[in-house]
Amino acid sequence: MVSVLGATGSIGDSTMDLLRRAPGRYRVEALTANGNVAALAKLAREFDVRFVAVGDAARYAELKEALAGTGIACGAGEAAVIEAAARPADWLMAAISGAAGLKPALAAADRGTTIALANKECLVCAGDIFMERAAKAGARVLPADSEHNALFQALSSGNREELVRVIITASGGPFRTWPAEDIERATLTQALKHPNWSMGQKITIDSASMMNKGLEVIEASYLFALPPDQIDVLVHPQSIVHGLVEFADRSVVAQLGAPDMRTPIAHCLGWPERIPGPAKPLDLAAIGQLTFEKPDFARFPGLRLAFDALRTGQGATTVYNAANEVAVAAFIGEKIRFGAIARLVEATLEGWVRGGRLRPLGSADDAIAVDHDARKLATTLLPQIAAKAH
Ligand code: NAD
Ligand code: MG
Repeated sequence: MVSVLGATGSIGDSTMDLLRRAPGRYRVEALTANGNVAALAKLAREFDVRFVAVGDAARYAELKEALAGTGIACGAGEAAVIEAAARPADWLMAAISGAAGLKPALAAADRGTTIALANKECLVCAGDIFMERAAKAGARVLPADSEHNALFQALSSGNREELVRVIITASGGPFRTWPAEDIERATLTQALKHPNWSMGQKITIDSASMMNKGLEVIEASYLFALPPDQIDVLVHPQSIVHGLVEFADRSVVAQLGAPDMRTPIAHCLGWPERIPGPAKPLDLAAIGQLTFEKPDFARFPGLRLAFDALRTGQGATTVYNAANEVAVAAFIGEKIRFGAIARLVEATLEGWVRGGRLRPLGSADDAIAVDHDARKLATTLLPQIAAKAH
């Protein structure tokens, strides 16, 4: 029995594709979306789902009508999405985007469900708490993010005490070779042109700013209980090597594959076994060359800020994520320039620290309160960041 949160998104789509390829093998308990009622209802009918929910509470009547005659139960609003997550599934894909995915993912964790976690923001917002709640309930957290899935696979080659460091790769995004002045003024269309991966809007913009890699550094730290000094980032424009683990004997174990999210998702779906994956077989001879570069913290300050936030702790990564969500929404709404995304995150973190607001997070509610307050602070700082000439 499986459930998919964020079933209408990019990761949701890849997950439903894998389920579709194994007819009769998986029964779908629940699916959720935010507002795309038509797409959700279509999936619900196709997979004969038991329960569906949309995040947008105003869409209840529309959803009910779209499911008329099917007998499929449904709900709308945050509580309904949480209910979908808490229903009895043995495996759940957490693929809502943003910190909005935290409460539903926690509901699944509390039930002890095996969770394929794509929603990295939920870990950046409340990583320790999420991992603790999952461990307490006996929930297995399987990383669906490609780099973390690669690390998860490579880590099994050695013991924890033998681990030296992990390395996550980054494509470098569409602005990898751009000078800082051009990155500063990049348009939405330019930011949405990812060279290798086809993904949702928010993560595509995060990839262009390399905030995505920053979020992933923090994600790796919480997922694998690693200090920031044991996590390195390597720019690898071909996106073939996804993650590497160095052990004490200097062996470096890596996972490779074509850039297709169905590979890490299939790994999570089959785990602990392997199921057939539909991605193109990797043809290294055809690719010819794999190249690697150091990340540039000066042109991509969002990455540096992630390491800073991780070292600061005490809710700083929650603030980092919240400010970035506000900044990305402001960039999409044409309120700030591309270069101002990292400046808003930095100003919010500085304001937070200067205001003496750092404190240990004791619970998910604490993290949610910090997320909320940091969004408020970022929104307050937005006009001055937007006005500053660069
Ligand atoms: P997307 O925007 O394509 O899809 C997001 C899904 O979440 C949609 O189904 C949407 O309806 C739902 N959703 C959004 N806000 C919601 C809310 N407030 N309440 C309920 N549902 C809501 O995003 P995506 O690219 O599929 O990414 C999903 C998550 O997976 C993100 O956290 C992203 O960082 C992570 N991720 C994505 C990829 C990728 O290749 N797309 C790779 C690695 C990690
Ligand atoms: Mg990734």
